[in-house]
Amino acid sequence: MNSPTTAPAALEVRGLTRTYGEGPGAVTALRGVDLAFAPGTFTAVMGPSGSGKSTFLNCAAGLEPPTAGRVLVDGHDITDWDENDRTRLRRERIGFVFQAFHLMPYLTAEQNAGLPLRLAGHRPDRDRVRELLATVGLADRGDHLPGSLSGGQQQRVAIARALVTAPAVVLADEPTGALDSTTARGVLALLRDSVDTLGQTIVMVTHDPVAASYADTVVFLVDGRVAGRMDRPTADAVAGHLAHLSDLVAGAAR
Ligand code: ADP
Repeated sequence: MNSPTTAPAALEVRGLTRTYGEGPGAVTALRGVDLAFAPGTFTAVMGPSGSGKSTFLNCAAGLEPPTAGRVLVDGHDITDWDENDRTRLRRERIGFVFQAFHLMPYLTAEQNAGLPLRLAGHRPDRDRVRELLATVGLADRGDHLPGSLSGGQQQRVAIARALVTAPAVVLADEPTGALDSTTARGVLALLRDSVDTLGQTIVMVTHDPVAASYADTVVFLVDGRVAGRMDRPTADAVAGHLAHLSDLVAGAAR
């Protein structure tokens, strides 16, 4: 039996480096990032604008090739996989939650939530999709189109969609960025609950210290490097540390 300490990380990056362009104009967005996310953990990734958060998410999702380093999902080194294999991996082993929800406007909530299964060539298991919609508090909204749902409800559909394949890892990019603070807290509690009750693994990029406080750990990026981590974060402690990092970055730029 695998104990939590011997199970492979749900997501791991080793020496992750990403440079855009060549020559004097080249920009290095990531400079040798080493991170491992254990199964059943919730991690927030934070850092000043331009610190490499989006690049990290894109590389972790297999959407961008690293310039150097490795990306492992569920113990599989995907770095050299071809585009077809990486597309399949994204459909089946990675869930996505975006700031702008990205639901299909002409599909019902239930069809949207089941879409990753359909794209993976499986007939969506209606019971499972409905169960997930109930879990996210939308048992009675399955036949609604996104346009007739509130922002918070749409993000709940997107979370059900992200969870439907029971992926190795859910990558969330500012999942509460478009929501008011009360609705945001509901969505964050739902993400937290998927970790605690389903054993889901979540990696969430956010600039919001309150959102980060729902995570087990915050990883801070500065200038493409890991600049620290904080376990059991509180919103105040995160806000204080971010202000300190921003001062350092501003100081270095002067
Ligand atoms: P963050 O998400 O933390 O704001 P990004 O990962 O978007 O940071 O960007 C990190 C650095 O890489 C920035 O300097 C940014 O300008 C640069 N960068 C990101 N994407 C590209 C790209 N496609 N081409 C050139 N430079 C890029």
